[in-house]
Amino acid sequence: MTRAEHGISRDDVSPNALKVMYRLNGAGFESYLVGGCVRDVLMGKVPKDFDVVTNATPEQIKGLFRNCRLIGRRFRLAHIVFGREIIEVATFRGHHSDEAKDTDAPKNKVRAKQDDQGQLVRDNVFGTIEEDAERRDFTFNAMYYSVADFTVKDFANGLDAIEKREVRLIGDPETRYREDPVRMLRAIRFAAKLQMTLHPETAAPIKNLAHLLQNIPAARLFEETLKLFLSGEGEKTFFMLHEYGLIAPLFPQIEPFLSDTSCREMQFIRKVLQNTDERINSNMRVTPAFLYAALLWYPLEEHAQRLQSESGLNAHDAFNIASGDVIAKQTQRIMIPKRFSTVIRDIWVLQQRLPKRFGKRAFQLLSHPKFRAGYDFLLVRGQIEGGKLLELAQWWTQFQHADNDKQRKLLNELRRTESSGNNNKRRKRRPPKRSPDA
Ligand code: ATP
Ligand code: MG
Repeated sequence: MTRAEHGISRDDVSPNALKVMYRLNGAGFESYLVGGCVRDVLMGKVPKDFDVVTNATPEQIKGLFRNCRLIGRRFRLAHIVFGREIIEVATFRGHHSDEAKDTDAPKNKVRAKQDDQGQLVRDNVFGTIEEDAERRDFTFNAMYYSVADFTVKDFANGLDAIEKREVRLIGDPETRYREDPVRMLRAIRFAAKLQMTLHPETAAPIKNLAHLLQNIPAARLFEETLKLFLSGEGEKTFFMLHEYGLIAPLFPQIEPFLSDTSCREMQFIRKVLQNTDERINSNMRVTPAFLYAALLWYPLEEHAQRLQSESGLNAHDAFNIASGDVIAKQTQRIMIPKRFSTVIRDIWVLQQRLPKRFGKRAFQLLSHPKFRAGYDFLLVRGQIEGGKLLELAQWWTQFQHADNDKQRKLLNELRRTESSGNNNKRRKRRPPKRSPDA
């Protein structure tokens, strides 16, 4: 496609990405923008980052840029760093089968490796642009924009997929999913984010292959889940993933709730995902810890109750032990970095502490560094469960916005209602008076 046909102009491209491509071209290499950025510009969206591919090897790229870092083991990549913006530059990737032609490939080429499930464990074979296009996941991700002649090379008919709003894998879907099961997550992510549907052949194998996600390293899955749920379309993505059987292998502990999406537990998750989407779409800060705390909340409650009734632990100890267990079990599938797991536990502990508001405690809780997250969490629980929990959340809504006088008043009122509640209880427990003639 020529400039007149595709309508991409240099104004749509990050000046740093342009710089990188001009430098590579100037040194006699080919270079292109590829993947999400080309797709997004063609769809009239603003790309979130710009990826470049070239026939220069990582070492040759490094030789051209002082601000270059080489990263990655599975795929070797160059990052060109411009302050806060990083332009990722990859070398054309080639075929990994033994029949692959290696005539044009650089000398330091290594064969890709597959494990016995067909999954690629190393993929550093360099190749031509045509081979690179075949190695990409979806047809709309295999379009290459060149600043040498301002053309777009559309190897897999990606433009057609954009027009039809269809997510379609390049090549044989089952093979491609086996090579890299994360592509199943990516298919759903793009469908939700780009308001597209899955091509029937791309959709068909997913349910049967969903279990392959168990073979993906937990650290990679953490990164992927961030992209899934913190993209501004988290709710839609979650329930679409569920439709394709992809939530259970990621979060085995919520599997018991998944069969009925209208149950309280799933409503809670839905509400938290909705709030997260709203926050992201109005440029507010979100933390993955909040989401993980929510996803694992009901498994935690259940596990804590079981521990309490089965091993006679007190509520406090049972809750603490259960918190550790639930997080440990989740990290077998999806790694949760320590900086987030401590926040998850803070949010949970606050759920235990927020009901206890007497004396100085209410003020201590207000100044807890994670009060806001703990309160927000309580509020959603209150909205879902109603009753006493909602009253408690509303009390905290009032209390945190009140001035000193009002706060004291709220605490006094609380003392009065609670102590009258206690009197009632005490009265009930008192043995009935014996009548003189008994
Ligand atoms: P986003 O806008 O969400 O960043 P993207 O398409 O740019 O979407 P990236 O994860 O940034 O997605 O990947 C960049 C490109 O690399 C993709 O467009 C695709 O061509 C290729 N790619 C990424 N992951 C895979 C994969 N698992 N298998 C094959 N190709 C992939
Ligand atoms: Mg990208």
